[in-house]
Amino acid sequence: MTVAAVFLDRDGVINVDSGYVGDWNNFVFLPGVIEAMRTLCEAGYALVILTNQSGIGRGFYTEEDFHVLTERMCNELSRCGVSIAGVYFCPHLPEATLPQYRKICECRKPRPGLIHRAVEELDIDLARSALVGDKDSDMEAALASDIPHRYHVTSGGPFANCTAVNDLPAACRALLATA
Ligand SMILES: [Mg+2]
Ligand SMILES: [Zn+2]
Repeated sequence: MTVAAVFLDRDGVINVDSGYVGDWNNFVFLPGVIEAMRTLCEAGYALVILTNQSGIGRGFYTEEDFHVLTERMCNELSRCGVSIAGVYFCPHLPEATLPQYRKICECRKPRPGLIHRAVEELDIDLARSALVGDKDSDMEAALASDIPHRYHVTSGGPFANCTAVNDLPAACRALLATA
């Protein structure tokens, strides 16, 4: 049985993007997102987080730091009735400071590698899925994967062929209105 997914960028969609967030003490949920995520869960969507974490390749924080933060985040969400089906991240960057992360990879958005990995591991039906992101690279990854519902969290014009929304709660309402 395949599931419909809502792919969520992390920084700027779930939490305040204060730049290279690698510590739970700097992780601040944006208003209304926990409730919106719970609504999406209750509607039957698998929630999948896709996040570029070049802060790892740049040496600002480690993969271990990222995993610790992710666990704290998922625990907090779980306490609020939100279950996360998967968290996929890219630590790479062509100009990474740390050599083990210095490469042109398939997983850094706008490339669709993280989406493909999630689809395979979680048995996701892309034709019923959505993506919410705040950067052009998120929307490009969604377009490259033929994800039909694409929400761009932006205060300006949306990326071409995507729907502009103010925040994740607005994306949630728009998506549920299509059903
Ligand atoms: Mg972002
Ligand atoms: Zn990568």
